[in-house]
Amino acid sequence: MTKATQVTDHGGGVQSIRVPIPDNPLGYTLIYVLDTDAGPVLVDTGWDDPESWDTLTAGLANCGTSVGDLAGVLITHHHPDHHGLSAKVREASGAWIAMHEADAAVVRRTRENDPSRWYAYMARKLLAAGAPDAHVAPLARARDEGAPRRLPGLDPALPDRTITPGDLLPLPGRRLRAIWTPGHTPGHVCLHLEEEHPARLPGNGRLFSGDHVLPGISPHIGLYEDPDDATVTDPLGDYLDSLERVGRLAPAEVLPAHQHTFTDAPARVRELLEHHESRLTGLLTLLAEPLTPWQLAERMEWNRPWADIPFGSRTIAVSEAEAHLRRLVKLGRAEAVAGSDPVTYVAAP
Ligand SMILES: [Zn+2]
Ligand SMILES: [Zn+2]
Repeated sequence: MTKATQVTDHGGGVQSIRVPIPDNPLGYTLIYVLDTDAGPVLVDTGWDDPESWDTLTAGLANCGTSVGDLAGVLITHHHPDHHGLSAKVREASGAWIAMHEADAAVVRRTRENDPSRWYAYMARKLLAAGAPDAHVAPLARARDEGAPRRLPGLDPALPDRTITPGDLLPLPGRRLRAIWTPGHTPGHVCLHLEEEHPARLPGNGRLFSGDHVLPGISPHIGLYEDPDDATVTDPLGDYLDSLERVGRLAPAEVLPAHQHTFTDAPARVRELLEHHESRLTGLLTLLAEPLTPWQLAERMEWNRPWADIPFGSRTIAVSEAEAHLRRLVKLGRAEAVAGSDPVTYVAAP
C-alpha cells in the first residue's frame, strides 16, 4: 500500500490520514486535516512511533500541505493513539495544541506523578476490587523497585489552549463548536462542524466524534483514575448522557477517529444505548450472588475467555466492571454488601 492511499478527501476542506497504531487491533487512527484561513488544523495527531510519524508527514504532503504549515492541533482526548504525536507536531510547526481542561489535568498528572506513587495507587485499588495477590504482585514489585511505567504516552505534550465546551473554536473561516462528551475520558470532546454537508446530506453538519461514537465498536468505559481525587465519579453515566447529547445534534455525517465515517448518528446512538442497557441488565443476573468487582469482571462477557485475557487488559476489564457497578448503584439497582472486605456487590431486592 502506498502512502497516497492513506489519505481520504471528505470534501468541504476536510481530509483524513490513516496513521497506524503499531501492534494494535484497531489498526490506525483517522487524523483529520481541517483547512482554515489561518492554515490547516489537525484533529488528533496519532501514536508516537517513527512509522506513524512518517505516515502523518507523508499524508500531509498528499493533502497538499506539510507539517510545518500546521496552525493548530485539536485533541479529542488524551489517549496516546490521539495525542501521542502532538509534541513532535508542535516542535516541527509551532502549532498550538488545544484540549479540554479535564484531560489536560490528566496530562499534567501523568507528567508530574512519581511512577512508584502510581503503582502504589493501582495496587491498592486492585486489592480493594478483590484482585488476587498474583495479579497485584507485579505492580507491588514495580512500586517497590521504582520501575518506570512501561506505558506509552508517559511524557505527553502539555496543551497550550483550553477547549471550552459550547464555544465556537477560534478558527478563521470555519464554524466548529466544541461538545463536551465525558465518559471514555473525563475531558473527551466531539467537534461539531456546523457547516452544510458538502454533498448536502440531510442533517446538521458533520461531527468529529473521536472515540465517543464509532461505527462498529463500543468504546472502553472505565473509572477516571486519579490518585488525588476521591470523588465517586460515574463515567458510564457520563458516557450515556454524552451519547444522548450527540444523538440530539443529528449530524449528517460522523467522522470518527477509528474505522470509517458513517451517517445516521441517532441510530448508532440508540444501538449503543441499548447495548449498555442490556449489558447492565445482564450484570444484575450475575449479581444474584454477592461479587467483588474482580469476580464480576471474571464472569462478564469479553471479546475472549477470561483465561486468555492478558494482565494489562484484565486491569482495564476490572475498571470497566467497576464503572458498571457504579452506574447500577447510582440507579439503585445494586448495592454494596455492608461490612464486606474486599467490598462485594449484589443486585438490589
Ligand atoms: Zn481513546
Ligand atoms: Zn482511540
